[in-house]
Amino acid sequence: MSTKQVDVVILGGGTGGYVAAIRAAQLGKTVAVVEKDKLGGTCLHRGCIPSKALLRSAEVLHDMLRSREFGIKAESVELDFELVQERKDNIVKQLHQGVEYLMKKNKIEIFAGEGRVIGPSIFSPRSGSIAVELNNGESITIVAEHTIIATGSRPRLIPGLEIDGSVVLTSDEALVQEQLPKSIVIVGGGVIGVEWASMFNDFGVEVSVVEAGPRLVPTEDEAISKELEKLFKQRNIQVYTQAQLDADSVSKSDQGVSFNVKQGEKVIALSAEKMLVSIGRVANTDGLGLENTDVRVENGVIKVNANMQTTEGHIYAIGDVNGGLQLAHVAAHEGVQAVEHLCGLAVHGTPDTWVPKCIYTRPEIASVGLTEQQANEQGHHVKTGTFPFKAIGKALVYGATEGFIKVIADKETDDLLGVHMIGPHVTDYISEAALAHVLEATPWEIAKTIHPHPTLSEGLAEAMLAVDGKAIGM
Ligand code: FAD
Repeated sequence: MSTKQVDVVILGGGTGGYVAAIRAAQLGKTVAVVEKDKLGGTCLHRGCIPSKALLRSAEVLHDMLRSREFGIKAESVELDFELVQERKDNIVKQLHQGVEYLMKKNKIEIFAGEGRVIGPSIFSPRSGSIAVELNNGESITIVAEHTIIATGSRPRLIPGLEIDGSVVLTSDEALVQEQLPKSIVIVGGGVIGVEWASMFNDFGVEVSVVEAGPRLVPTEDEAISKELEKLFKQRNIQVYTQAQLDADSVSKSDQGVSFNVKQGEKVIALSAEKMLVSIGRVANTDGLGLENTDVRVENGVIKVNANMQTTEGHIYAIGDVNGGLQLAHVAAHEGVQAVEHLCGLAVHGTPDTWVPKCIYTRPEIASVGLTEQQANEQGHHVKTGTFPFKAIGKALVYGATEGFIKVIADKETDDLLGVHMIGPHVTDYISEAALAHVLEATPWEIAKTIHPHPTLSEGLAEAMLAVDGKAIGM
């Protein structure tokens, strides 16, 4: 078995891993990345990018089918799902090549194989060693001063319900289906579930969503959940909340899947051609050799401090595996943070509350800061302002007037506490609210910053004014 010595070894080449690798190389470190599948990880191959590519095709179809509203007669609009998949695959391929190029450019060595921590080595008793079973059948030990674990997550499964990849799917299998089903039931109304619901509906699939909690997207402000549910119902998406799938009742046939859903005392019998299970994701901590270390794993996630260090100071854990917000931009940010810390630079983290969160339904959802309920629970005297997109010129021009922007501020200090948006392209300007928080701007200061006309971001300025009852357009 051969041995390799580097400054930093990174286990997992997903968003967190490859961004950490580039930052470490920029700071003069020698870096090895161990990746058992493909560089780019979940986000590039099974998450953000492919799902957004499909969502965009679904949106184009939806727009074409209503083109008459815009004065355009588009006759015999036809969906070619094979081409939709091809477009998605090409986007992923292009970005994958981009990541590979960046690895080469930064002289980062990639080891294609499965790695696990085997503890201190004779080369460096303080440091960790990683044993790698290479995909070509060989093996290698990598010894490094610092180890970064970035092994990501996988879909959470329902005990007793087999994912067969053809009738019962997770998002992994849903992304590679060759044909669209006529109908689908989505179990789980969180971020991934509602994005797929919106997409399938725009593709003309009959969609039902079964959510165990009292509302869709339960981590968002309640007003946003209500609006989404209202808009979904208008689109004939069936939404069952406080409804639990009875996994024992699931039966499959040539027609698809039938099952019962328990809603309080009621038992509802449902059926669909396919079932998509999207009930969250589980951190990949198994088989990493953590038993050879003092790294603490609690509730299935690796415990880290504010610098992303585990309970063994030279081992860091970033991204989905450490139990923080499971978002690609969080993984990337934590990767940079871990590397800068191990290089002795000053590190500034962002609390989860102020991480912008985006959901790519139609219309989109984006939020940052506290929900109204959280603000109240934390003892703030809250004032809120809401502004609807139907009063924004650009939204009318765009033909997308659904939704609103809600701003939450502190009555006494005027601090901005939270911004929650549901409406056209909101994911593209939520960063303004995040920046405002970093710069400690008050709603009034944000509103006084001139917002160009006509833009959708004018809604943000109006909602900031609405906090004090001073919106111009309402
Ligand atoms: P990952 O990207 O999962 O990478 C981990 C890598 O580690 C993988 O490549 C894996 O093969 C490798 N690995 C694991 N174990 C080993 C081992 N022992 N040895 C070697 N390699 C190993 N986030 C957003 O911010 N925006 C979105 O729009 C968005 N959409 C999503 C849509 C879907 C359908 C899904 C599933 C996720 C989405 N996410 C989105 C979440 C996002 O994909 C993740 O938060 C992000 O990929 C986490 O990055 P990571 O580096 O922690 O892990």
